[in-house]
Amino acid sequence: MTISEQEREGLLTIDLGALVDNYRWLRGQLRSASECGAVVKADAYGLGVAQVAPALFTAGCRSFFVATQREGEQLRSLLPPEATIYVLTGVRPGCEQACAQAGLIPVLVTTAQVQRWCDFTMGMGGDASLAAPAALKVDSGMTRLGMGGEEFAALLPQTGLLRRANLQLFLSHLACADEADHAQNVRQLQVFSGMLTQLRKVCPQVRASFANSAGICLGEEFQFDLVRPGSALYGVNPVPAQPNPMRPVVNLRLPVLQLRQVSSDCAVGYGATQTAVAGSWLAVVRGGYADGILRAQSGRGYGMAVVGNEAVRVPMLGRVSMDTTIFDVSALSETQRSQLALIEVLGASVTVDDVGTAAGTIGYEILTSLGHRYCRQYC
Ligand SMILES: *Cc1c(COP(=O)(O)O)cnc(C)c1O
Repeated sequence: MTISEQEREGLLTIDLGALVDNYRWLRGQLRSASECGAVVKADAYGLGVAQVAPALFTAGCRSFFVATQREGEQLRSLLPPEATIYVLTGVRPGCEQACAQAGLIPVLVTTAQVQRWCDFTMGMGGDASLAAPAALKVDSGMTRLGMGGEEFAALLPQTGLLRRANLQLFLSHLACADEADHAQNVRQLQVFSGMLTQLRKVCPQVRASFANSAGICLGEEFQFDLVRPGSALYGVNPVPAQPNPMRPVVNLRLPVLQLRQVSSDCAVGYGATQTAVAGSWLAVVRGGYADGILRAQSGRGYGMAVVGNEAVRVPMLGRVSMDTTIFDVSALSETQRSQLALIEVLGASVTVDDVGTAAGTIGYEILTSLGHRYCRQYC
């Protein structure tokens, strides 16, 4: 079977229609007062922020989250001015004015950062008595980025500073949201709600944001004013214990470089870790760990051999190499083999979650590892 020029490079198809459907599905889960934002950090989880963010904006999304200021500056140039952009890792000392000038809202996590933000951006939003808009993130139990309870308690009495800081959003992050029954979810909810009540005595207008993709599915009490889904937009299952309600967004098909039958038992690949028995048919495809086919799935991963409109599940054999991966395609009939040109390694039947499991990791890492040697096609 002949393949297109694009397929020769390995074809990564990103379905923006599915992405938008996923956004709408998530929005449909929300209590009516809650807004659905989108996390587009790390180049929209590897899928291309330049295409993903405008598609989400067109679907009605107005609040975007990125990880770094540089990502924020890039995103600012991609979106109309009415988009709000939050920078999750905040602002480095010395970058406050550049951050405010780019219209980015940093997520601050220390009192010193709040102080500096006021010192360097007072009046930049127009009102001489206010700093440029900022967000404050607290630690409610994950012990990652966020102001701890004691520092927060010490900040609360500094009402002048808090009011000047022009806090638009108060947020925290869940550690165990993908395990619905985990006791930590409710614990974190109580801590966050308590802190929010305290803060609203000083800043009554501040909006609250708590839920990532999985957090949205924990129920309305976790949703507050603005939710921050990332992974589910891109097709990762937000509730791993249940069937995935999200549409797959990514499809990756790798071209077969060589198809051959081995006449005797043969050790396959680096380290000779697996054996192809005599008579096996092997397909070597273009795509390896430098392309995000994680080496950790060696001996466990699989793909779908594409033959006409059918797809046949075929196991990987031997270790994944940098540029190539070997599949045992003995399950194919002779006719099917004669048509074999592509093996799908991500798609509806090889989900990002399944591949993550095979590689001992999560779908997130599969997406963010996708390489830059593919031909990318958006539809
Ligand atoms: C990455 C991130 C998110 C998005 O989480 P998903 O699990 O991908 O939905 C939300 N909030 C913060 C603070 C994050 O770092």
